[in-house]
Amino acid sequence: MFSVAIDGPAGAGKSSIAKAVAKELGVIYVDTGALYRAIALGCIKMNIPVENETAVSTVLEKIRIELVFVEGTQHVLLNGKDVSEEIRTEKVSMSASTVSGIPQVRAFLLELQRGFAKTQNVIMDGRDIGTVVLPDAQVKIFLTASAQARAMRRTLQLEQKGEPADYEKILEDIIKRDHNDSTREIAPLKPAEDSIIVDTTDLDLEQSVNKIKELIKGRMK
Ligand code: C5P
Repeated sequence: MFSVAIDGPAGAGKSSIAKAVAKELGVIYVDTGALYRAIALGCIKMNIPVENETAVSTVLEKIRIELVFVEGTQHVLLNGKDVSEEIRTEKVSMSASTVSGIPQVRAFLLELQRGFAKTQNVIMDGRDIGTVVLPDAQVKIFLTASAQARAMRRTLQLEQKGEPADYEKILEDIIKRDHNDSTREIAPLKPAEDSIIVDTTDLDLEQSVNKIKELIKGRMK
């Protein structure tokens, strides 16, 4: 099997880039952030405070998460219900970052993630794919961009959808999430030693996709 791990902070363009590259290469794209988001949403729905480690760990018994692929597009199911849209709010983003620091949550999702790469070629994105989930991935990419560039992209995305967007608040949340993700004790966000670091601050989507495609093709030879 061939697997590509793409890690990096929120808003570096991982999912847009990975999705486009996976389509061109004809492999499946697994967005692992959706799994942490689904757990966070489950906690919110069950009124479990996401910072309460014991409560979150206990509630995992009542949470069933599945990823299904419809015409190549990933959908995440929480206890049988498709929550792919519902997990995309800022509240769920922050809560996902909080629950992702809980060891039981990470253990709960580990085998599920590894399972995908066992039976098919995948491009998987997240924070710890190259370091923990798929340490043997043939290609490891660490995508990054300045916090300001990432906040600006998110602001424009929301504006395009006609949703309210406050650049300063988004920037503040991104900095907070980066801090949470990179300072947690378990599986912190950091480049794997054998990863290729790609900074997309000055690249648009097409340039980023081309760059990643070339890197992957170079390794597939
Ligand atoms: O990538 P996305 O922004 O959807 O991820 C939501 C949150 O899930 C991240 O802020 C991070 O805390 C967590 N996450 C993680 N490990 C992954 C993927 C996501 O800790 N592999």
